[in-house]
Amino acid sequence: MRTQVGIVGAGPAGLLLAEMLHRHGVDSVVVEKHSRAHVLGRIRAGVLEPTTVDVLRENGLAERLDRDGNVHDGVRIVRSGGGFLIDINLHCGKRFVAYGQTNLQDDLFAAADRRRAAIITEAADVRLDGTSIVFKTGRVDCDFIAGCDGFHGISRDSIPAKREYEKVYPFGWLGILSETPPLPEIAYCHSPRGFALASQRSPMLSRYYIQVPLDTRIEDWPDARFWAEIKARFPRDWADAIVIGPSIEKSIAPLRSYVAEPMSHGRLFLAGDAAHIVPPTGAKGLNLAVSDVYYLSRALAEYYRTGSMALLDAYSETALRRVWAAVRVSWYLTTLLHRFPDASPFDERAQEYELAYLESSEHAQAALAEQYAGLPL
Ligand SMILES: Cc1cc2nc3c(=O)[nH]c(=O)nc-3n(C[C@H](O)[C@H](O)[C@H](O)COP(=O)(O)OP(=O)(O)OC[C@H]3O[C@@H](n4cnc5c(N)ncnc54)[C@H](O)[C@@H]3O)c2cc1C
Repeated sequence: MRTQVGIVGAGPAGLLLAEMLHRHGVDSVVVEKHSRAHVLGRIRAGVLEPTTVDVLRENGLAERLDRDGNVHDGVRIVRSGGGFLIDINLHCGKRFVAYGQTNLQDDLFAAADRRRAAIITEAADVRLDGTSIVFKTGRVDCDFIAGCDGFHGISRDSIPAKREYEKVYPFGWLGILSETPPLPEIAYCHSPRGFALASQRSPMLSRYYIQVPLDTRIEDWPDARFWAEIKARFPRDWADAIVIGPSIEKSIAPLRSYVAEPMSHGRLFLAGDAAHIVPPTGAKGLNLAVSDVYYLSRALAEYYRTGSMALLDAYSETALRRVWAAVRVSWYLTTLLHRFPDASPFDERAQEYELAYLESSEHAQAALAEQYAGLPL
């Protein structure tokens, strides 16, 4: 096959890029190693920045999101003895939306089906050969390649002499999905027993997480133990409001920050998790995939319209500015809210006072609200 832009990976980055390029009249072919059912079955992110929602709306992808998404003014930080709202609407005049990545992925496949997009799934042994994507049963020759194949993909390996920045945190998140009504607010809980998060995917789908040691085995965490632990971490009034039920998914994710620079080499451009990952504390991973794709689709469209490589040449630098802003706030929130196993009494005291400062200062809250809301594109 021959196309203008070959896209590796049919996650949110890959499918959104294909959709946005189509709107600019640019052809693409998506090559995905898993089946569609597998891609759709992955339970991941669920908090969309206002900018992400705008991008989806502008591209005709927000019909269900506007109907079913749960709009929030801010997020609450709770701990024993109190809590406070990081009020994004108050400080930034913006709201964010809780909408599961699974739904977004489904919306993207539906849009691709409507325009009979070229998506090759279950492609085995995918590799890059110059500007071709080669797999077991075929190849796609392209003008450009977009590596949207996530953190464990193969595209990043084709960027020689890259600089890699990494921070591995000494804990993971044990998460469950349950068909129970979520708490009305998204609540980050700082507790002596470890961090916990109450989040949501829809009015009848709750997502809860607890911080766990890296060697935690999922089989040691039956639902009853999970619910007891999360209720022990939240202050009493919050714990009482958590509605428990059987989990329909349970997984452990290690926490890591990682950035590869540059995000391009020759005619290969990385977008989303292929280039960077952040701990989920800041709810930025999916949003960064969308902002990368925004910049990349704009640059490719400009090339096909005018022949100019200027935006493509600037892509890595442009995208990285936003990436590092998200990496920084995700690291800040992770450091602020978790119990670090190697923390000294000094570290713990400083963390307590940082939280107290954030609680008492409108300016500090406004700064965090701005970053949680996401910077403009
Ligand atoms: C367990 C978990 C929980 C998360 N929770 C949150 C959250 O709460 N908030 C948040 O903002 N973010 C969260 N994230 C991150 C968010 O889900 C990702 O940032 C987002 O999926 C990035 O989209 P992407 O398209 O770049 O990558 P992916 O979604 O990883 O998609 C990459 C695609 O490429 C395919 N692929 C891989 N290798 C190849 C290959 N060799 N050839 C062809 N195709 C290939 C994969 O199968 C996949 O379909 C979470 C991630 C995980 C894993």
